[in-house]
Amino acid sequence: MPNKSEHCCLSCGIDISDKRIDAKYCSDRCRMRYRRTQKNSKLLTELIDLFTQLPNHSIQKTDNGFYLQSYNALNGKTENWRDSELKSMSNPRLKDLVSKKRVLLTGDAVGKFVKQFFQKR
Ligand SMILES: [Zn+2]
Repeated sequence: MPNKSEHCCLSCGIDISDKRIDAKYCSDRCRMRYRRTQKNSKLLTELIDLFTQLPNHSIQKTDNGFYLQSYNALNGKTENWRDSELKSMSNPRLKDLVSKKRVLLTGDAVGKFVKQFFQKR
């Protein structure tokens, strides 16, 4: 027997048992928001991965989540991105942030490679 109270909007969690049995969201707005969250979560996973690999980048835990922190040695500035901020960030903005960090990692990898190359001779 299906539990009626389990039929909730995937996005906002309100009860939608009055809607079609296969309905997943209470509204188009929630459907779109959910899709954006899904898209963002892939990017977020990559972003977190990058922050664990990059120098001067770290993930800081808080009582109710985490934030990503990067230290820019060139201007001495620290930047923070809270998890809630990242989750609600628009997809293009998050994509932009990920690609900027990805470039840093590539740049660093090339730097290491060049160093090793010269140390060998
Ligand atoms: Zn909803």
